[in-house]
Amino acid sequence: MPASPPTIIEVAIPVRIDQTFTYRVPERLAVQASAGKRVLVPFGRRKVTGYVLGPGDAAAAELKEIIEVLDAEPLITPAELAFLRWVAAYYLFPLGEVLKTALPAGINLTSRKRQVAAADGSSVTEEVLAGGKRVKTELFYRSLSAPAGVTQPRGRGGEILTFLGGMEEAPAHLIRQRFGPCAPQLKRLRELGLVTAAAREVYRDPFREEVFEHDTPHILNDDQAAALARLVAAGDTAAFAPFLLHGVTGSGKTEVYLQAIAHVLSRGKTALVLVPEIALTPQLVRRFKRRFRCGIAVLHSGLSDGERFDEWRRIRRGEAEIVIGARSAIFAPLERLGIIVVDEEHEGSYKQSEGVRYHARDLALVRGKMDKAVVLLGSATPLVTSFHAVREGRLGYLELPRRVRDLPMPAVELVDARGKRGETFLPPLAAALAENLAVGGQSLLFLNRRGFATYLVCQECGFVLRCPNCAVTLTYHRRRERHFCHYCDYSIPAPSVCPGCESPSIGLLGRGTERVEEEVWELLPEARVSRMDRDTTSGKGGHARILRGVAEGRIDILIGTQMIAKGHDFPGVTLVGVVSADATLNIPDFRSAERTFQLITQVLGRAGRGDAAGRVIVQSLAPDHYAIRHAVSHDVAGFYAEELAFRRETGYPPFAFLAALHLSGTNGAVVEQGAEQAARLLQQLKGRLRSRVEILGPVTSPLGKLRGRFRWQILLKAPARSDLHRLVSAFRGAIDLPAQVRLVIDIDPVEMM
Ligand code: ADP
Ligand code: ZN
Ligand code: ZN
Repeated sequence: MPASPPTIIEVAIPVRIDQTFTYRVPERLAVQASAGKRVLVPFGRRKVTGYVLGPGDAAAAELKEIIEVLDAEPLITPAELAFLRWVAAYYLFPLGEVLKTALPAGINLTSRKRQVAAADGSSVTEEVLAGGKRVKTELFYRSLSAPAGVTQPRGRGGEILTFLGGMEEAPAHLIRQRFGPCAPQLKRLRELGLVTAAAREVYRDPFREEVFEHDTPHILNDDQAAALARLVAAGDTAAFAPFLLHGVTGSGKTEVYLQAIAHVLSRGKTALVLVPEIALTPQLVRRFKRRFRCGIAVLHSGLSDGERFDEWRRIRRGEAEIVIGARSAIFAPLERLGIIVVDEEHEGSYKQSEGVRYHARDLALVRGKMDKAVVLLGSATPLVTSFHAVREGRLGYLELPRRVRDLPMPAVELVDARGKRGETFLPPLAAALAENLAVGGQSLLFLNRRGFATYLVCQECGFVLRCPNCAVTLTYHRRRERHFCHYCDYSIPAPSVCPGCESPSIGLLGRGTERVEEEVWELLPEARVSRMDRDTTSGKGGHARILRGVAEGRIDILIGTQMIAKGHDFPGVTLVGVVSADATLNIPDFRSAERTFQLITQVLGRAGRGDAAGRVIVQSLAPDHYAIRHAVSHDVAGFYAEELAFRRETGYPPFAFLAALHLSGTNGAVVEQGAEQAARLLQQLKGRLRSRVEILGPVTSPLGKLRGRFRWQILLKAPARSDLHRLVSAFRGAIDLPAQVRLVIDIDPVEMM
């Protein structure tokens, strides 16, 4: 007997409630309501979009009926659903919300009530369904053989006809592009029976107007060839095979990605490429479009909802073999996935900071394992965690130790800023800036400042206050005149002299790009100076304008923050000055050394990329710190060894697993009470479950108040993932906070703010 279609189904609904829902399927919809499709369902007093998970539990007594099935074909495959269930379970987030995150924005329908005027002039309430992107159509023209007695028109109409005669058919936009506005001529041609037009579905493609010249693969150097050979061998086994591709910028990593992907495609499989920044996508996309003739879809948050919806549908229909995108592309509906590339795997932007707080780099490994794919994590400065995984044999290691053009690494001078009364430019950097300006070279001044936390530093000996329990920098709270640890709430009163050397020149550090700009003007009044930070790049095109200014030689000295360290090529830059290497080192975060090492290494990569050899000067109050020492001597292995020893000793990842609980609300006292209530519950559950999880806090967040909301946090530290999940799941099931307090659970937090 054939199984009858389910009459009870389980439905996930995108709401912040940690459960799925059961509905009855009316007879007329029974065949259609299959897993992976959207359905319109009554939910409370609204109608909302839900996702069918499969047959439901018939035990429930009074069930509501679904109203409509919204899709002819499932939107998600069973394999994708399994992946999304994993995501929901791991990040402790409702499955319906995870599904909504994974699907393109604008696909969901919700009902809204609105007042409309009835025929008799009275006002009635009408329920309207809103949302849901439309499919875009375009007219495609085709020339016909001239009917008897009709002659070809002269003028623009005739030219269009000749143009159409030379091809199968042409979309309207292409004709317009060639002949300008020509609606009357086309209409006339149709009336004469010389052309036909048919509306056809088209995709909104941001790269549609561009023509890509074809390029050919480079002949690989020995290091690249060795890396590719291992990727090809792993790919051919069709088993999960994760690798770290470690190579400085310009070492040819992207070329390895391209050739590894070419091999995957030749086996009839598909490729997913994750990139960290929207701004970097066009360059990379063009490189892929020049290399491959197959379908390439691009997914990033810069797309309009319509473009995103179209790209998603192209992928779903199997019309794209390669998908390139920012973090959310990890959910791209690619089937037969052969390889996932995560470019710049160390980038913090792979972590989603709202809603489901997933980490796309970590999920690449999870998805790769489920899909039996090769996963290639590429970086010049891999995560400490990745390095550790290599050591433990969980990640294969591929290294490209040299730049393709064999440019030497720049010469780096480290300048000790201790005992110099906090001057912005110490003599070596001041002299180098003047010399470089005199010979017409461009300089980059880098300021790795993170503005949110103030900390105490001794200008004499470089001493910084740290928490004796957590090893992170203490943050100064003006109101209470104390220095606090943002992990465990340890605090001490503000000292008046340096606890290290008893010097009175101990002060709060903080130097903005504006002040540096003023000092450059004083030092070198004739220099053309520009600054690149959030203020100067906030307007549309501000970023590009400054980059163009540098490229065209209209800027002598560019001052900037993190932004200038990433990805941009500045071939004319011959001097890079790191004004203070310390700010990142002293953010209240256990990863501060890792971040500092990565940033300095990337800044060094900005120097000497053109033909002239580069020179780099790094000023620091902590010249002996291993992050700075190893970065300036290009000693990657040395840094990872010391950092892993530090993590082991202090009990941080990869030797422990973390979760952060963030509590916020507009009433400070209520939030504080809520945070204490949460911490008490955690302690109780810890006892009951005999959990090994360490509970730190509650403490005010480093950003204690943000956009009118007071913020508290609790940090959980566990020796194993399973401990962490058991405790947090139990907590999530039992916590009952006042409605004004919002709770966010962040598994594997990246920013502890
Ligand atoms: P990365 O991704 O590590 O920064 P790329 O792959 O972009 O490095 O390579 C840097 C430059 O060298 C690019 O212009 C690229 O086209 C070129 N290149 C890469 N591999 C080779 C090769 N084997 N032979 C010649 N040029 C190459
Ligand atoms: Zn001191
Ligand atoms: Zn502490």
